[in-house]
Parts: sequence; structure tokens; C-alpha cells
Amino acid sequence: MPNCEICGQETELVIAEIEGMDMSVCHKCAQFGQIKNIPKIKTELSKKISHKPIHSEPHLEIIETIVPDYSQKIKKARERLDLNQEDFAKKINEKESLLHKMETGSFEPSLPLAKKLEKLLGIKLIQKVEEEKIVSSKISSEGLTIGDLIKKK
Ligand SMILES: [Zn+2]
Repeated sequence: MPNCEICGQETELVIAEIEGMDMSVCHKCAQFGQIKNIPKIKTELSKKISHKPIHSEPHLEIIETIVPDYSQKIKKARERLDLNQEDFAKKINEKESLLHKMETGSFEPSLPLAKKLEKLLGIKLIQKVEEEKIVSSKISSEGLTIGDLIKKK
């Protein structure tokens, strides 16, 4: 174990500029000057990062999506009700042009709209999909330097 050049304590040392001189000192003494390299903090930092689980294991998330054949389902349901597009649009309180787009498959209804249609028509327009999401922390051990931390302040 090296000794602190100021107090002589046997400990992990840092290089600090104290009164214009580079000295190997303990952390306590380093506070009297300008710390030039801080190996201790760096190890603590990387330790912290490695302890933090980087979510590389996928975790499942249930997401609601519109069924791929929504256009046919809407059209069939409307025909079952014996309504033309205009009357049906009125019934669901949407624009006829929007309904037309949905029935031709050029407009996918939003989830709230799909829910409304499901209720009104008694059809299924929303499917639940399990999606694997890989969440990875942006902070990884590489690329994170003390300099970066200072810059971000
Ligand atoms: Zn010291």
C-alpha cells in the first residue's frame, strides 16, 4: 500500500495538484487541492453500473392492436345491420369518408374508436399481443466518463 504524501496514511491514493505540485495523496488530503485523477470514484462508478441490471432479458408487454382484418369485420357488421355507409357513419357518429377508409383498409381505427365499434357492432377489433421488449439502459459502462458527467451538468 502506498502512503499519502501529505499525511502518510496508507490508503488508496489519488493524484491531486496541490499548490502547483502533482502529489499522490489520500482522498482527505486531495480535497486541499485539485484532483487530477480519481481512480477510486471511477471504480465506484463502474461498480454501480455493473450492479445496475442492464435489462437484456426480454420482458413481455401486453399491447393492444387493431386486428389485421378490421376492414372486413367492420364492413360485414355494417351489412349485417343492413345499413349503408352513410347511415352507419351517422350511427357511430363518425364521418362517412372515415368509415369508407376503414372499410377499404386504408385507415386503421384508433384504439378508442375500435373500442366504440366493438361495442356498437359486437365484433372484435382489438387483439392483445404479447410483445417482447428489450429495455436496455442507455448508460453502459462504455462511453460514460467523468467528462461526460460534467458536461451533462
Ligand atoms: Zn493524506
